[in-house]
Amino acid sequence: MRYLSTRGKARALGFEDALLAGLAEDGGLYLPESWPALGEVAQLASMPYHEVALRVVAPFIGAEIDAGVLARMVREAYAGFDHPDVAPLRPLGNGEYLLELFHGPTLSFKDYALQLVGRLFDHALARRGERVTVIGATSGDTGSAAIEALRDRPSVDVFILHPRGRVSEVQRRQMTTVAARNIHNIAVEGTFDDCQDLVKAMFADARFRAELRLSAVNSINWARVMAQAAFYVSAAARLGGRLAFAVPTGNFGNIFAGWVARRIGAPIEQLIIGSNRNDILTRFVETGVMQMHDVVPTLSPAMDIQVSSNFERLLFELWGRDAARVAAAMDQFRKSGEYAVDAKSLATMRALFDAAALDDEGTKRVIREVFEATGATIDPHTAVGIAAARARRRDKSIPMVCIATAHPAKFPEAVEEATGKRPALPPSLADIFDRPERLSVLPNDLAKVQGFIRERLAVRGAA
Ligand SMILES: *Cc1c(COP(=O)(O)O)cnc(C)c1O
Repeated sequence: MRYLSTRGKARALGFEDALLAGLAEDGGLYLPESWPALGEVAQLASMPYHEVALRVVAPFIGAEIDAGVLARMVREAYAGFDHPDVAPLRPLGNGEYLLELFHGPTLSFKDYALQLVGRLFDHALARRGERVTVIGATSGDTGSAAIEALRDRPSVDVFILHPRGRVSEVQRRQMTTVAARNIHNIAVEGTFDDCQDLVKAMFADARFRAELRLSAVNSINWARVMAQAAFYVSAAARLGGRLAFAVPTGNFGNIFAGWVARRIGAPIEQLIIGSNRNDILTRFVETGVMQMHDVVPTLSPAMDIQVSSNFERLLFELWGRDAARVAAAMDQFRKSGEYAVDAKSLATMRALFDAAALDDEGTKRVIREVFEATGATIDPHTAVGIAAARARRRDKSIPMVCIATAHPAKFPEAVEEATGKRPALPPSLADIFDRPERLSVLPNDLAKVQGFIRERLAVRGAA
């Protein structure tokens, strides 16, 4: 399979090159040249999760990876998950279901993509005899999921920057208690935006970038979207027949994976966007104008975002793959913080998508209501999705699948406030408060951070 940039100025790449590049050289995002067809979804109903995932991802990879090797990687990616269904469906009544995506090693849905992407990375690099340095900034779940996925992989060194004192203790410990020589945690004396600016500056430093062979596994990487499409297909196969999804999203990454699942054949009738107070996507669905506001902190921090990067992929499809038009809109957005789409494209989008936003009070109320009505404990992100599902559901006769993106124990304060009960960590993480932490505190200073990374890599190279 070949991959095209949504901005049309970068050359088409094969799967592994698109995987390792992440962002295209013209600033665009990669999409497959053509959409494969899944075939009969019902036939997947009794397969284990990893077999469904293999059916979904194999056509996007094509002949570049040996079929047996790919099957093994996909099987191993999900072998350590703590539920036999990997992505279990829990009925909530009234035709609603929770799709629980917190059964991976770091308890968020990001494991479902990154456990596979880590293996794909390592395989591609080993085959090429190359090494890369993965650098990323995190405000929460991405950092720990990337660290777990890449720990002990021989061809990758990982440096994750987090804002010192500004991530929850569980989230910090999930990163800093991983005892692997290739994992380096940097606590920056600054905010999440400072961390992101440092990462951007390191990627923009051409000499540093080339010298260290910098790479990223952030949510614009096509392979993550592809891997996420599998849990939509798996839910569709098990429920049988038409269905709808509600997805708490900020970056438009996860819900775009739902669009991909539908594009390749899953019978998805409706996709509902759940926003917190950072509601750029919900305002867009209402008005057709994508307009950036300031980010406000909420109880669902993984969605405290005002630039929904992955929306560019849907725009490319809505505009008939007109890359020049996408590039112009993105340019305008960068300069003015705003762009608009035409009425026809908006109508096409609204035929499938709906959206609703929820504030923190509403989030706590939904956590309590779901707990009291069903006994299920949900995290604040999941609550935002459920509220949107209930506000925008079109057809009560088809199942509504609400995506549970994180385990409630990752956000114990909000959940305890809402339900009166503190959610317990699963056994795999029960001793996280007793494990030793490893992290380096650095000032918000590009030269110091670069110096630290060079030094760490030199020590490793010498050993
Ligand atoms: C990352 C994340 C999200 C948002 O994902 P998008 O890529 O914006 O769709 C939602 N919930 C949790 C718990 C997350 O970690």
